[in-house]
Amino acid sequence: MAKSCIFCRIAAGEFGTAFIHEDDVCVAFHDLKPQAPTHVLLIPRRHIDSIVATSPSDQAMLGHLLSVATRVAEQLGVGERGFRLVINSGPDGGQSVDHLHVHILGGRAMAWPPG
Ligand code: AMP
Repeated sequence: MAKSCIFCRIAAGEFGTAFIHEDDVCVAFHDLKPQAPTHVLLIPRRHIDSIVATSPSDQAMLGHLLSVATRVAEQLGVGERGFRLVINSGPDGGQSVDHLHVHILGGRAMAWPPG
């Protein structure tokens, strides 16, 4: 756990955040500033700065995140209409929190290309 990392602190339960999903590997919770009617963040419990900081040994964890993100989207009722999974990386990717996270966005039609 990185003591200064807000997502590590959320995963550790410091703020009593309600988890939509939790297991040994990851937790999911509502985004503070939702950009869609459904906007959930899924993060690994282990601190990893970004997708770029992962290695081949993280393949199982990354696959788990995608699988869980899909189940969470279905659980929240956006599976049938559709949803978007987003991983921002670095300044050009729009990453603002340096702890790997998957955005689960749904409940409205998404534009393409993204801004
Ligand atoms: P990104 O810009 O891809 O790094 O996404 C970071 C996301 O974290 C943004 O959508 C923020 O609204 C969200 N966020 C930041 N702090 C918190 C927090 N304390 N609880 C929930 N979501 C947060």
